[in-house]
Amino acid sequence: MSHSKVDNLTTKIAKNNKSFSLLLAVGGLFAAFFSGGVRAETIEILYEQGDAGGFVTSDWIWILFFLLAAFGVVLWLVRSHFLQLLANKEEDLDRAHMRLHEAQRIARIGSWTRNFETGETFWSNEAKVVLGLDEAAVEIPHYESLIHPDDLDRVTEVVASAYFQGGSYQCDHRVVGKDGFEKHIRLAGQVVLGEASSPVHETGTVQDITDRKLAEMALQRSEERMRSILNAAPYPILILELAEEYPVLYANASAYNLFGLNEAIVCEELKSKEFWSVPEDRMTFIDTVQNDEHVFETEMVMKSQGNRTFWASLTGSQLEFGGIRSVFISVMDITQRKRIQQELERLATTDSLTGLYNRRSFFEFANKELRRAVRYKQPMALLMLDLDHFKAVNDSYGHQAGDNVLRRFAEILKQNLREEDLMGRIGGEEFCAILVSSEEQGAYLVAERIRKRWMEETFDLEERPVAFTVSIGISIMLNERESIEDVMERADIGLYSAKRSGRNCVIVQGADAGTHNQAEQFR
Ligand code: GH3
Ligand code: MG
Ligand code: MG
Repeated sequence: MSHSKVDNLTTKIAKNNKSFSLLLAVGGLFAAFFSGGVRAETIEILYEQGDAGGFVTSDWIWILFFLLAAFGVVLWLVRSHFLQLLANKEEDLDRAHMRLHEAQRIARIGSWTRNFETGETFWSNEAKVVLGLDEAAVEIPHYESLIHPDDLDRVTEVVASAYFQGGSYQCDHRVVGKDGFEKHIRLAGQVVLGEASSPVHETGTVQDITDRKLAEMALQRSEERMRSILNAAPYPILILELAEEYPVLYANASAYNLFGLNEAIVCEELKSKEFWSVPEDRMTFIDTVQNDEHVFETEMVMKSQGNRTFWASLTGSQLEFGGIRSVFISVMDITQRKRIQQELERLATTDSLTGLYNRRSFFEFANKELRRAVRYKQPMALLMLDLDHFKAVNDSYGHQAGDNVLRRFAEILKQNLREEDLMGRIGGEEFCAILVSSEEQGAYLVAERIRKRWMEETFDLEERPVAFTVSIGISIMLNERESIEDVMERADIGLYSAKRSGRNCVIVQGADAGTHNQAEQFR
């Protein structure tokens, strides 16, 4: 027999047999008492008649009544026992009810059930409290009337869908109390469908989540404020997670703008490696931030959509971003500054008339070339070139014409030297060139080529073609102890010799500075 059947029987026996058992016990006792009297009289008569042996009818009647009385007493006792059990059970039930009530009160969760067949709805006390109603209220207004008007459609949709499909649903919404006070409620329900797929029974909870919701909203507001500050920052800002591939956790509006990103792309879809022109630069930057905690204004070439590269100054620091180890990077586009800087550098290092290195920077780079040649044990040659009788050009055709001649000579020089060779204008009409990896013979051939080419160059001056000549002195680096000045001095001596030899020639000046190699003189 199942537990509930036993309980039902217990309740039945305890509640229904009071009069019956009492009647049985008392009636039985009386009947037994009277039948006992009848029996005694019967026995006496029989005794007098001398027939005292065996059971007579009155004996049987007396025993029957006695048994009935006994049964009545037993029934009464059983009933009392069951009554006690029932009382204990009710006490347990009350206690469980109290505990449930207490639990609902602490959790601020109320429960409810609804029977669709009878239309009956039960609300726990706490459910009433959660909904801002009187705990003792018997009549509960229709639930819909409690819901905030702005949330009503949403709740109706969720609940209607559950009525249609069955199963559980959950929906957060506001209720408006009598005093106009809004509460946030989490409504959860479970719908049981009947055979015709129509709801039969529904049970659920209502939970007061006002505190949580308000805290969430406050957090959301503060997050929104932080985001709007970051978004309004004029600097592009990137936040990268310190994890494999360094995912982008955040990029502000300026960063989207700088990197030419489509606003529809969310941060999580961005790939940080695509921001750097040289992939290793990203690693270097992040490694430095990790090691030093901060990196201040490091210049790197970055890349925006469409592979447009630009110079950027990056400042970075370590950051705990919502509990995630990350790197905060502010990016400044310094392309313009870099261009100006490069232009200033160019102006400072080159000669404005010819575009060749000026004297100061030519010496600086020539020195580096010499050290490089020494380090790699490579030969190096130096050419010193001076236009012949140039003063006469100015005197005859004017300064402007002289400038044109200088410019054209610089062009011819560039055309006849290699990309890696170094050229400079070191005086008014004096030029110098470093021929890297060049031996004496090679340098001589180059110089000759320039000399001849220059002779062939004609200028239309005063309506007639005029040509000019150049004298060239050559020296080569003789040993690794030499300075650039030593090499240049020998080339200068070679040039001087060329001038003395009648100009328009090339002289290679060897180790002996006093003499020059006549065999290599050419006119
Ligand atoms: P030499 O054959 O001995 O070299 O004779 P030169 O006349 O070329 O030499 P000199 O040193 O006597 O004259 C150089 C001239 O170059 C003097 C100056 O007028 C001219 N000069 C220097 N710088 C410039 C310049 O920037 N523009 C022009 N047009 N002329 C310049
Ligand atoms: Mg000259
Ligand atoms: Mg000169």
